Amino acid sequence: MSLFPLEPSGDELAAMMTSATSFVSDFVGSLNEAPAVDLDVSDRMRVDLLAPPGDHAGDFDGLLETFRQAASKAVETAGPGCFAYFPGGGLFASAVAELLASTVNRYTGSGAMAPALVAMEHGVIRWLCGVFGLPQTAGGLLTSGASGGTLSALLAARQELLGGPPGTGTVYVTEHTHHSVAKAARIAGFAPDQLRTVPVTADHRMDPGAVEELVAADRAAGRRPFLLVGTAGTTNTGTIDPLADLADVAGRQGLWFHVDAAYGGAFQLTSRGRAKLSGIERADSITLDPHKSLFLPYGTGVLLTRDVRTLAAAQGADAAYLQDLQLDSRLPNYADLGTELSRPFRGLRLWLPLHLYGVDAFRATLDEKLDLAQVVHRELLDMPLLETPAPDLTVLTFRAPGGDAVNRRLLETIHASRRVALTSTQIQDRFTLRLCVLNHRTHRAHVDEAMKIVRDASWSVVDRKIAV
Ligand SMILES: *Cc1c(COP(=O)(O)O)cnc(C)c1O
Repeated sequence: MSLFPLEPSGDELAAMMTSATSFVSDFVGSLNEAPAVDLDVSDRMRVDLLAPPGDHAGDFDGLLETFRQAASKAVETAGPGCFAYFPGGGLFASAVAELLASTVNRYTGSGAMAPALVAMEHGVIRWLCGVFGLPQTAGGLLTSGASGGTLSALLAARQELLGGPPGTGTVYVTEHTHHSVAKAARIAGFAPDQLRTVPVTADHRMDPGAVEELVAADRAAGRRPFLLVGTAGTTNTGTIDPLADLADVAGRQGLWFHVDAAYGGAFQLTSRGRAKLSGIERADSITLDPHKSLFLPYGTGVLLTRDVRTLAAAQGADAAYLQDLQLDSRLPNYADLGTELSRPFRGLRLWLPLHLYGVDAFRATLDEKLDLAQVVHRELLDMPLLETPAPDLTVLTFRAPGGDAVNRRLLETIHASRRVALTSTQIQDRFTLRLCVLNHRTHRAHVDEAMKIVRDASWSVVDRKIAV
């Protein structure tokens, strides 16, 4: 027994680790067989889980079992059958990094208290700036996700171009822009009509000519256009806006160009992705989500800015500090670059797998996903009744002819297999199925199985239609 109630003895610590280790290896080892979705929480289980903590000590193995059961009631986002939303999977090496980082529990809000760890995180950020072709002035930070990064980017743009409060400033998005931009604008004090929706072309891309017309009309009406948001892989369809053309417009019109690359950004590591994301190197700020396309556990986003000083200028640094930042010999004070003061040491979640596996392993895995998306597209085209546009990256959308009810039934029939999880969306007001190949554990055999399920389901839906 340990002397203090919150500190395990050496033996107790070892026993906890042993139990946790066997949980982890059982969990990872059974992912191929795990149901894709199980949300069946019994009333009894719900009541038990809602119980308040007792005054007296519990038993670790018993509590771990409670966690195991609770975790099993979920969409299996870690498993190979997950094609829902943007599956990231969760690299095991990052989970280990999280255990290590939380155990040493260093303070990395500034370089002052753990300079060497901050240097590790800074190295990852500098590497990413290089990947996106940003200049020496660039920098950024790891955030909890793209939503937080978008807020900081919007604050930086607002400060840089409007000099502070929203005033009559206007932001340019499309109907496909992620709602985190509208949310950030709202938090930053913009009224809904200060978010201007630019028309899209028939293939769902922001129309650069339309941006210019809207900006000119807004200027003439006394508004102050300042921020253009392009998306590198929309949530709905995975579509990439014409980034180079938008960068031209932003340059001509003096707008801050933000690229929301939450999903698509990591494909910059591949040559196909790099070609498609051309123009991103001209962004003033970029958000990307390692918890999507670098397969990390949830809670890891990245914000990069062309000039890192803009982040500090908007978020509370004083002039003397900005001067230090320019010296380039100091480590970043992350607390001044974003909204968090205390923060987890997120750097190790990226640093460890990147150094352990090497960048080529990530490149190859992303290339595998691009290849698999092409396989899915070919297969879907081969099911004569399904319509599906070619994917930009790894998001596919498809629908059967015959209206929303038929497509709803198609999705239900696919999900009845309990082997795959897809999602649906509305495209041009029509119920549309959506499949994203992104999980690092999803390989060819899983895609083949998923396609067989979709094929069988599409036939059964069509048969029923014929029977009616
Ligand atoms: C997921 C996503 C976001 C929001 O990111 P979070 O990490 O969930 O905050 C923003 N934009 C796009 C395009 C996304 O896919």
